[in-house]
Amino acid sequence: MEYYLFLTDRCNISCSYCSAGRVVSRKEGRLFPRDRFPELVEFIKKNKKYRKNSDEEDIVMFFGGEPLLEWQMIEEFLKCAQGLDVRYGLYTNGLLLDSVPVEVLNNLDVLFVSFDGDKSSHEKHRGNGTYDKIIANLKGLRGRLKCTVLGRITVEEETNLFASVTNILGRFVDAVYWQIVNKPRFNDAQGFIRRYREGAERLFRLWLERLKEGEVLNIIPIQAIVTSSIFGYNGSASFRCGAGTIHRTIDVDGHIYWCDEYVGDERGRIGHITDEIPPLEIFIPHTELFEDCRKCDVSPLCLGRCRKALTEYSTEQKRLYCALTRHLIGLVRKNIDEVKRIVDERGYGFEDVYPGPYWTEEIP
Ligand code: SF4
Ligand code: SF4
Repeated sequence: MEYYLFLTDRCNISCSYCSAGRVVSRKEGRLFPRDRFPELVEFIKKNKKYRKNSDEEDIVMFFGGEPLLEWQMIEEFLKCAQGLDVRYGLYTNGLLLDSVPVEVLNNLDVLFVSFDGDKSSHEKHRGNGTYDKIIANLKGLRGRLKCTVLGRITVEEETNLFASVTNILGRFVDAVYWQIVNKPRFNDAQGFIRRYREGAERLFRLWLERLKEGEVLNIIPIQAIVTSSIFGYNGSASFRCGAGTIHRTIDVDGHIYWCDEYVGDERGRIGHITDEIPPLEIFIPHTELFEDCRKCDVSPLCLGRCRKALTEYSTEQKRLYCALTRHLIGLVRKNIDEVKRIVDERGYGFEDVYPGPYWTEEIP
């Protein structure tokens, strides 16, 4: 199971599209009550019996708001959760990384640092100086962190995908994942599709060139599609993000949601930490949520991309996201024989091509 824990709904910045925007209050803010940590730990323990197999990992992801505003609470949770057998991640906007003791960060397996594309688009959304500040913080931590640092890029319509990835990968972060922003309408859909395709093609060409030279770039969407095509995919039948199956977002008030974008919205509420929540296979699969998925040739790889988008958006809007997904998967497919030949020649296994972390939505 993956537990996304809202430690706080306060944030030190305010991004226009933030999934927590509905509930984030910069002034007051709510905190997850420290005295409920034992109850939360008990909830996670109880739910272990619903794992499909004993190797399935439990993940606690510190989330918010900006969880580093309350980094002392992370230490408290870790103390309370000793012996729980979970792995840890944290989502941050990166601005406070220099004010947190590195020993605290080294309890994590993965540190997700969010970017809004390259410097110009990032600062358009987050303010002047914010990009350089994150980069300076990451430079300051280079060589001192034990965890994987993952750059998580939100792709907006104006995002230069290629520059956004290559500016940080290998220099400041170990791996990159990007996610296309969820919205019910694009301003310039055709322009966005064109730009996205160009960026994706350049990235895939770069990835393939490096593979030929014996280097695997940690560009997660490409790695996930390549490994699923060559080695098969063992995850859930729908939605790689786990929404509807293994994903639980826990709000500061203990309510649980099937997706972090629904926090504060009753439509996404599935229980409370005082309940016991069995696996959510009751949720309908992507092929029933959206008719196009039934006859879609990339369905076994895409798995519906985003449950929220398929649930809420118009058919026209869903098809625009599908055009982006189909293009990305198509790029890999067109070249899969060549990729497979290189992988075979070098004797690579799954983890050589895709060493993880595996805790992203994988399909942007
Ligand atoms: S690309 Fe679109 S139609 Fe195809 S499986 Fe994904 S969401 Fe469904
Ligand atoms: S990809 Fe999954 S977790 Fe992300 S918004 Fe969509 S349904 Fe929610």
